[in-house]
Amino acid sequence: MSLDGVYDDNNPFALILAGKIPSIKLYEDAHTLAFLDIQPQSRGHSLVISKWSRARNILEIEDEALAQVMASVKKVANATRRALAPDGIHIAQFNGAPAGQTVFHLHVHVVPRWEGGPLGFSAHAQGNVADAAALTALADEIRAQF
Ligand code: 5GP
Repeated sequence: MSLDGVYDDNNPFALILAGKIPSIKLYEDAHTLAFLDIQPQSRGHSLVISKWSRARNILEIEDEALAQVMASVKKVANATRRALAPDGIHIAQFNGAPAGQTVFHLHVHVVPRWEGGPLGFSAHAQGNVADAAALTALADEIRAQF
């Protein structure tokens, strides 16, 4: 799928928002939702989405929705830092399949990084699916820091 296209109501994040598939939530407000990535690039890797925008990518998103998402990204990054003490935090966002996008509901990745750890992001969404119990315990640690 390219930069142009129609919003798919059955994309995984639409299904999470509709309560049709589970997610391990970190943070939620009236406009945004943050949850742990099921194929994490690092411990604590999470995603932040708009609850109401049907933008597939940053080229389409309403300014208001983008501002709401980025305000939540900041909150999630700070809570993740307090919980996990990373040395850095990688904020990433992909637009179009050739750029690495695999889910077409705009989302921002919040990826804690530690000194000496991997830097690349090219193989994201291809790693092992994380253990659900481990992710749930990790989410408790981060949620305690909001
Ligand atoms: P993209 O490649 O579109 O930038 O990133 C999509 C991200 O969503 C990937 O990191 C992938 O692991 C994650 N992902 C895909 N499907 C699901 C899902 O059903 N639940 C959760 N929590 N993450 C998902």
